[in-house]
Amino acid sequence: MDPELLEDAIKDRISKMGRKPKAIIPVALYGMPYRIDRIMEIANSYEIPVIEDAAEGFGSRFNGQVLGTFGKYGVLSFNGNKMITTSGGGALITANEDEWREIMMYATQYRESYPYYQHEKIGFNYRMSNICAGIGRGQMTVADEHIAHHKHVQKMYEELLEDVSGIHVHAQPATGEYDSNYWLCTITIDPEVKIKGQENAYKTIVQGAVGGAAGVIHVADSATTDCQPNDNVEALRVFMDAAGIEARPLWKPMHKQPCYKDAPAYLSGVSEAMFKVGMCLPAGPYVSDEDVRYIVETIKSAIVG
Ligand SMILES: *Cc1c(COP(=O)(O)O)cnc(C)c1O
Repeated sequence: MDPELLEDAIKDRISKMGRKPKAIIPVALYGMPYRIDRIMEIANSYEIPVIEDAAEGFGSRFNGQVLGTFGKYGVLSFNGNKMITTSGGGALITANEDEWREIMMYATQYRESYPYYQHEKIGFNYRMSNICAGIGRGQMTVADEHIAHHKHVQKMYEELLEDVSGIHVHAQPATGEYDSNYWLCTITIDPEVKIKGQENAYKTIVQGAVGGAAGVIHVADSATTDCQPNDNVEALRVFMDAAGIEARPLWKPMHKQPCYKDAPAYLSGVSEAMFKVGMCLPAGPYVSDEDVRYIVETIKSAIVG
C-alpha cells in the first residue's frame, strides 16, 4: 500500500462521498512489511481504524515489532500454504479485552447466556475447531524454524541469481526497518530476457492451473486476458513446470480482477507493471538447498543465449 495514494484515496472519498473509508487494510504481500509507520500516521490523522492483513506476514517485523500488532486489529491465516497451518482458519489479533469479548461473541453465533439459543445480534460461526487449534499448537513449535528456513532460501536465491543478467530477486529495502519472513521469494524478469519456448506462450488455454474447490473448475474461455505476465514470464513458468518446479505469477492486481471492475481504485501503475514481470519461486519448508540450486540452474538453462 502506497501511503501517498492512501492519503489521496481518503481525500477523494471524502470529497466525492462526503465520508471517509471505514477501515484501512494494508496487506503484507509475500510477507514483506507494509510501511506501517506512515500508514498509521495517516490513519490516525483521519481517525480511521487499521486492520492489518498479516496473513502472509506471520512473524515479519517492522522496526522490530511483529506485523498484526500495530493496527486496531491484525489478521493471520493458517491456510495450508501459509507459514504455519491449522489446515484452514486463522486468527484475529487485538490488544483490547472488551473488543476481544465482542469479537468472540460474533464469532460464536452471538449466543446470550440462556439455557436456549437467544440472539441479541446476528453472529457467525467463525471459531476455530479444537482439532485445528491442536494442530496449530503443534505448528507453533516449528514456526521459528519455518521463518528461518524461508529467510535462508531467500538468501540463497539472492546469491545464486546475483550474476544472472535480467533476473532480479526482490529483496527488502536495506534501511534496517524491514524484517520480512520471505514467505514467498519473488523475482522479476526483464522484458528483454529471451526464454526458450517464448514464441508459444499463451498459445493454448491452460487446463486447471490453479484448480477450484474440490477439483471443480471453470474451464477458461480464453488463453489470455487484458492484464497478464509477459510472454517470457509465462514461458519460464511452463519451462519450470516441465522440469517439475511449480512457479507462479505474482498476485494479479485487485483492480484488474473482473469481479472488481466497477470498484474505485487509486493507482500508480506499479502493481500492473510488477504483475507483468514478476514470478514467485518455491520457498516452503520442504525446499532444500539442493532444490534451490536445481531451480536456479533450471532458470539459467531456460534463458536463450
Ligand atoms: C491467504 C490470505 C488470506 C486469506 O486467508 P484464508 O485463511 O485462506 O482465508 C487473506 N489475505 C492474504 C494476503 C492471504 O495471503
